Amino acid sequence: MTVTEDMNSQAGAERQDTQVPRQPAPADPSRVALKTSRRDFLKSGGMLSLSSLMGTAALMTESDDAQAAIEWAEHFQKNYRLMTPEEKAEARARLERRYSEEYGKKVTVDTTEAQPGVLMGYALNIRKCIGCRRCVHACVAENNQSRGRNRPGEKIEWIQVLRMERGKFEAEKMNHGYPEGLGIQVGGNAYTPVGQVLEGQYHYTPDLVPEKDATYMPIACMQCEKPPCVKVCPVRTTYREPDGVVVIDYNWCIGCRMCMGACPYWARRLNVTNPVLPKEEMNPVTHYLGNRPRMRGVVEKCHWCLQRTRHGRYPACVEACPVGARKFGNLLDPNSEVSLILARKNVFRLKAELNTFPKFFYFYD
Ligand code: SF4
Ligand code: SF4
Repeated sequence: MTVTEDMNSQAGAERQDTQVPRQPAPADPSRVALKTSRRDFLKSGGMLSLSSLMGTAALMTESDDAQAAIEWAEHFQKNYRLMTPEEKAEARARLERRYSEEYGKKVTVDTTEAQPGVLMGYALNIRKCIGCRRCVHACVAENNQSRGRNRPGEKIEWIQVLRMERGKFEAEKMNHGYPEGLGIQVGGNAYTPVGQVLEGQYHYTPDLVPEKDATYMPIACMQCEKPPCVKVCPVRTTYREPDGVVVIDYNWCIGCRMCMGACPYWARRLNVTNPVLPKEEMNPVTHYLGNRPRMRGVVEKCHWCLQRTRHGRYPACVEACPVGARKFGNLLDPNSEVSLILARKNVFRLKAELNTFPKFFYFYD
């Protein structure tokens, strides 16, 4: 028996003991109209003369429409990294007013910075995961992701739980379905991806999980120490914070999708449409660089729940996991749960050969 087979069979034994109903996806939401994006503005602004800009500004200032005035101010705000503390406070107050009005409840926009001496890290027990996708739903609810289902791209989920076939890799299986006499399939000649028939399925909907012949692999942003997404961003809107979390200043994203192409972990999502975020489902506790509402045309991704973790709480997915597969902590603290896992367990990183140095570690006992 190989290491993988051994791991899978033991994992299967554990999983059958903990079989639980899969959590249903949230109910169909209504739509919410959002603002014009910076990209739209830049596009149209390029065709406006200075006088017409000033004229429009005057109109906006005189207007009773508070939201329009706030949007106008947002168009001119600096990249978050370049703002002074006063400018940050102004931007925060502006957004809190805007969101509170838009969602009909008191919304806070946190600007807490990275804490000194903290480098956040994540560990996931790949043997324990039962594929229930509760982490996915908790993440969507906590981080105000788009719930739409009516049009392609309306639904956004930062976490994917891949369902894969459990089993052995056999020559006999490889020959199956291939023209007689041509032997074992290789590379691009393969008619079907033998041994990986379930790979890539992340919208599976069984009544009960774990399933007998499946194994599960949750994936989200790995918060790479050398993030390719940051390297390629032409407007420097995405960057690594001192606590190791890679963030996005949504107001500066131009939606070019360079980062999506560069990320080897399929972690980034583009808001192709206006995000669908029903008022009653909106989480009002937000962070500027985290779960505040996004706009059409900007990219987003997991940020390890900055609105929680910078205040000593666990990410929502860690709290939601019914089998305790997810662990989170400070990599610089040798006694944190995640540091102890790194020291004592069998650990691997996804696509380690790419030298992106993820701070998301998979482990098994
Ligand atoms: S996983 Fe992708 S999005 Fe996340 S930091 Fe790495 S390259 Fe960037
Ligand atoms: S990580 Fe936990 S919550 Fe997510 S699918 Fe696996 S068992 Fe379920």
